Amino acid sequence: MSSSEFPRIARLDASLVSQIAAGEVIERPASVIKELVENSLDAGATRIVVDIERGGTRLIRVRDNGHGIHPDDLRLAVESHATSKLRAPRDLEAIRSLGFRGEALSSIASVSRFELTSRRRGQDQAWSVTAEPGTGAADPLPAAGEPGTTVAVHDLFQSVPARRKFLRTERTEFLHILETVRRLALCCFDVDLRLEHNRRRVLHCRQAEAGIDQRLRDILGAAFVREARAVDSRSDGMRLWGRLGGPGQARNQSDRQYFYLNGRMIRDKRLGHAVRKALEDSIPPGRYPSYVLHLDVDPAVVDVNVHPTKQEVRFRHARDVHDFIHAAVNEAMRASAGDGRRVSLPGVSGAETAAPRPAEAGWPLRELSAPYRDGHGAAPAPEAAGAPVVLGRFVLQPRADHLLLLDAAAARRYLLQLRFKEALAGGALTTRPLLVPVLLECSGAALQAARENRERLARLGLELDEAGPASLRVRALPALLSRVDALPLCREVLEALQAAGGDQRLVDVLARHGADGEPPPQSGTALRQLLDALAEAGIEPEAAGLARRLTEADLARMLKRP
Ligand code: ADP
Ligand code: MG
Repeated sequence: MSSSEFPRIARLDASLVSQIAAGEVIERPASVIKELVENSLDAGATRIVVDIERGGTRLIRVRDNGHGIHPDDLRLAVESHATSKLRAPRDLEAIRSLGFRGEALSSIASVSRFELTSRRRGQDQAWSVTAEPGTGAADPLPAAGEPGTTVAVHDLFQSVPARRKFLRTERTEFLHILETVRRLALCCFDVDLRLEHNRRRVLHCRQAEAGIDQRLRDILGAAFVREARAVDSRSDGMRLWGRLGGPGQARNQSDRQYFYLNGRMIRDKRLGHAVRKALEDSIPPGRYPSYVLHLDVDPAVVDVNVHPTKQEVRFRHARDVHDFIHAAVNEAMRASAGDGRRVSLPGVSGAETAAPRPAEAGWPLRELSAPYRDGHGAAPAPEAAGAPVVLGRFVLQPRADHLLLLDAAAARRYLLQLRFKEALAGGALTTRPLLVPVLLECSGAALQAARENRERLARLGLELDEAGPASLRVRALPALLSRVDALPLCREVLEALQAAGGDQRLVDVLARHGADGEPPPQSGTALRQLLDALAEAGIEPEAAGLARRLTEADLARMLKRP
């Protein structure tokens, strides 16, 4: 797209302004983040970084790599009722963008020290405008910046003591922000989204190339994905898709119900009711199901312009939508009743070979360490003919027209590295407390390293307590590492903490111990699980140098036979 095709900003005329459901949208730091990230998504960004300081009260900064704003439009962007997303009244009848009222930036700028910097795609210069409460934006000045847009909001509500008073502790505001970012992350699987608080990475969702489950695992955890039932139904131009949490994911409150309409997160009582009704029999009374559902409809049949924060919507045929959702959820529940993944005794039930696995479902790595022992395996893939042959760390699996050669230890190491990196970047890993804590003699320097890195270790699932001037007590190991030897592992971890090499070295140590402790997959099912886990993590085994297909021609070449 040439830069002249990017939309320009214009003031809405008075009659259009009067048709827009107005309202205060900025209640707290989290609302600022919602508006700014939605703007980034509307601008087609594929990478968004949200930085906050002190729960967003001191700083909120959102950076994106979207299409940017024309320098002549920068001041206009901060004006009320100026937007590039709405032109004529009839545009209101079919809104495709997340924003359309042209109010957010002006509302935010009126209660903060505000800075908007943007460089249009294809231009070589960024421009920036600043605004203080009570003043409009000043003239744009040349600035440094990559293509895309950065909005910085300093000292939110500082100038409005009455509003500032209503802010809660920084921690609480932070938790609201975290939840807002999680909600946003579940509507844009193809966007790399990061959140940093006080310069520490809190959440990093990579582009979910391996499909929706990758993002769901980042946000809702492996257990959700493992138990989830897939929904995907269409009818009359509507589509409902997503995942329903299993009974084990039911909650005491409705805090894990993520519903999106055309990519916009909404909370609509009637739609929620349709889902609840359909799940009535599978969730105990008084508990709330968890789910992530996307409803896609023709924008012309829904009015999103009815509520100030656009959380409620109005459908032209509300009853039909309700019934469709009810039926779609019902259907998913019925389908999953015969799903082989939940029939856990291989060889006992015929269901496991009959049931096709949902396209995007797979086995999270946490399962990798155990599945061949406790027997809940996936259906073997049809092409896996017979048991694999294991030689040291290598596995050779005959297939219909080739042999698959896999370096199982390297594959596991790769997957473990990913999981540990994710843990350092955001979510913490589950720990496995040791029945009997192990005592570890160590140097004073090692002791200090453990002390200074306590939080980092905890994220990785490691708990090391001081037990004396030169000893540590190992209380828990990462649940992912089910067969490691605690002492050698922890010694190497302490060495890694004291040496240069940072996170990478630490992650390498953990992944190596974890992978080396496991036997290679001995059955077709186990091999399949490993391959699925790689696919789910977006790793192409051959491209990553972990596997090779050997055809007859390859074998002939190896023997130098024509
Ligand atoms: P709205 O999103 O309702 O149009 P806003 O006040 O949020 O109103 O933004 C005003 C205008 O500024 C938008 O219409 C858009 O043209 C431009 N804009 C805001 N943020 C961005 C961004 N991150 N990237 C590109 N353009 C943006
Ligand atoms: Mg907006």
